[in-house]
Amino acid sequence: MNGVMAAPRAEVVIDLDNLRHNVAHLAALAPNADTMAVVKADGYGHGAVEVARAAVEAGATWLGSCSLAEALALRAAGLTVPILAWLDPPGTDYAPGVEQDVDLAASSLTQLEEIAAAADRVGKRARVHLKIDTGLSRSGCPAGRWSELVERAAKTHNVEVHSIWSHLAVADEIGHRGTDAQAERFDDAYREALAAGLDPRRHIANSAALITRPDLHLDLVRPGIAIYGLNPVPVPTDLRPVMTFRSAVALTKRIPAGESVSYGLSWTARDDTNLALVPVGYADGVPRSLSNRMDVWLAGRRRPVVGRVCMDQVVVDCGDDAVAEGDEVVLFGSGDRGEPTAREWADTTGTIDYEIVTGMYRPRVTRKYVGTRR
Ligand SMILES: *Cc1c(COP(=O)(O)O)cnc(C)c1O
Repeated sequence: MNGVMAAPRAEVVIDLDNLRHNVAHLAALAPNADTMAVVKADGYGHGAVEVARAAVEAGATWLGSCSLAEALALRAAGLTVPILAWLDPPGTDYAPGVEQDVDLAASSLTQLEEIAAAADRVGKRARVHLKIDTGLSRSGCPAGRWSELVERAAKTHNVEVHSIWSHLAVADEIGHRGTDAQAERFDDAYREALAAGLDPRRHIANSAALITRPDLHLDLVRPGIAIYGLNPVPVPTDLRPVMTFRSAVALTKRIPAGESVSYGLSWTARDDTNLALVPVGYADGVPRSLSNRMDVWLAGRRRPVVGRVCMDQVVVDCGDDAVAEGDEVVLFGSGDRGEPTAREWADTTGTIDYEIVTGMYRPRVTRKYVGTRR
């Protein structure tokens, strides 16, 4: 390296100070509820273990993961707070989860029985969260089978029902009647659980409901996207984006007017111009559908990517500006300086910023953490 720090080829920078700020801010918005930081899918592409540690430092009292394997990885990394794992296929061995105090979700009698069988094998009670489907029609127990589920759970001696819970379908659309309808069904489910002799806690709020529906905070809130600084609702909040995606100029060149750029020769220079080659492409998370439709932040301003996004490279038009090989290129970041954001990529490609940041979990993209406390 000749004593010179090599510029990153493709790197996401994860700002844990921003993450802690977001968690503390969200927890303060729901002062009467516990806060579960949702770190599924490797922390929405930010790194589950590092995010989980920082979230706990900032006041999160629970962690949420999708699979049991994700929860066990958090335990293996030394995280001791309660963790809820909510979705695995039939035949999953829940015994390691019971052994390591992972809370488990059950949407059906079959799942409840599988968890109870694991508890038997381990010789320890399992803690479960019974999930009611209140209208999302995804996981969760349908209302017609709920009384059977709560009654059975109340009689199963080796499971302890911690909570009943549900997930919202349209919380990001403020004022949508669907959320009220789900809340009403959730109340019904709660009454049935009480009638079955249970005394469960309740949780239903994702990020959007945490921000817009204090009446749905209940005992525990489950923010995911918002802890990463991305706001799912058009309401001002003090959230700071946690991920920046950056690279560096690998090569510069001047081309004459009339020359075209990249596969398909889809862009042609009108004047002589300086090009900067950036060594990231769709294998690194830059959607190919952003070809000729994206900017990067380079040498103090936004500049357009011209021509097709390739597997490993994009080309930036710099006009007559002199940019240098090795200069930093920000693909997306907080937007504070004017750089593009994950939200901008999502809007242009017709998706949501969740998919953009989660899609940055790639073997060729390195991660760098800033604001680490240990
Ligand atoms: C992903 C998820 C969340 C978090 O949702 P956000 O919209 O990211 O806040 C909460 N609860 C469950 C069950 C989830 O699957």
